Amino acid sequence: MKDFSAEALLPQFPILERRINGRRMVYLDNAATTQAPLAVVDSITGAYTSTRANVHRGVHTLSQEATAAMEATRERVRGFIGAASTSEIIFTRGTTESINLVASSYGELLEAGDEIIVTVMEHHSDIVPWQILCTRRGTVLKVVPMRPDGSLDLGVYRSLFTPRTRLVAVAHVSNVLGTVNPVAEMAEIAHANGALILVDGAQAIAHMKVDVAALGADFYVFSSHKMYGPTGVGVLYGRRELLELMPPYQGGGEMIGHVSFGGTTWAELPYKFEAGTPDYIGLAAFRTAIDWLDSLGIEAVAEHEHRLLEYATGRMTEIPGIRIFGTAPGKAAVISFLIGDAHHYDTGVLLDHLGIEVRTGHHCAQPLMETLGIEGTVRASFAAYNTRADVDDFIAALQRVAPMLQ
Ligand code: PLP
Repeated sequence: MKDFSAEALLPQFPILERRINGRRMVYLDNAATTQAPLAVVDSITGAYTSTRANVHRGVHTLSQEATAAMEATRERVRGFIGAASTSEIIFTRGTTESINLVASSYGELLEAGDEIIVTVMEHHSDIVPWQILCTRRGTVLKVVPMRPDGSLDLGVYRSLFTPRTRLVAVAHVSNVLGTVNPVAEMAEIAHANGALILVDGAQAIAHMKVDVAALGADFYVFSSHKMYGPTGVGVLYGRRELLELMPPYQGGGEMIGHVSFGGTTWAELPYKFEAGTPDYIGLAAFRTAIDWLDSLGIEAVAEHEHRLLEYATGRMTEIPGIRIFGTAPGKAAVISFLIGDAHHYDTGVLLDHLGIEVRTGHHCAQPLMETLGIEGTVRASFAAYNTRADVDDFIAALQRVAPMLQ
């Protein structure tokens, strides 16, 4: 494993030098969006100052360079997640659009009474598109419950399958609980029952090695902005045979073979699913982000984040009245908590006064909140550039605000 020093990364993130309310900022909202290193920012600036030109349609040099930069990202993503072919890498605006694409397009192949399984801990973006599909086509949604520690009960999961089950949609890592779901095993069970599996990798892709073939994922989706890359771009990986069967998601430029009023044909994969001008500058910079993350070694990042998680969790027990939600073994570096009965929003505001940037609310997981019997939590989530000093400042801030809230 590579040597790793979070402190050594800090000069690459000028934003982390910011002060908030006169205090050193501690950024612990990485599950929502990670910061981008200078290399990524430079890639965006470089594109605006040297190669900005629309992709695909041009014969001129700038257009060809822009196209090559975007396609190089497709190959980089393919290798990064172990996909067989670049035809299986569809560029989207992010995880949410990737799931909507599958629900909308694969959904066209489903019939009334067909069943889709999700889990109680899904993000709204892995619930609502399926609910829309159920309304549109009469499909049925089933929900896997969880145990008190935030792990899924695979016994119940198995029992939900029927001959009508077509697809399972599950988060690789919960954005609230940090639970790492056993998606390889869940994929095996889905396949043994003749169903497909879509894995929402939004919270996994920057924190662990992902190999879509080893996982057995039929679809795998993620967003660049949660992996040190630009906002507004993301990926849908889909197995080629499935993508071939699926109808287009949106119509427009680039997704066609030939257009005539007598009938229109579709482009080859992956372009069949990429109507219109993509964010080709963001996509080119996305490659820089993947290079950057890869250069650190994802295993080294995972180990570092795990150490922070253990240190922070241990120290949080010093705070009277603290309740942590999600304690499954091997969980990822996400800590959702409440202090006594204090409202999560009040805790978040007070922490912000002390320069600590955490997320508060239902985290787009209202069904999970309902299961937990709460309205929301405060969430601290870690990334490669967080340090032990960040945790110490976070704990010191909690020690200051906790007595004010109880
Ligand atoms: N799925 C999970 C597990 C997430 O954590 C998020 C974002 O927080 C999403 C989906 C949605 O990602 P995006 O807003 O980038 O589409």
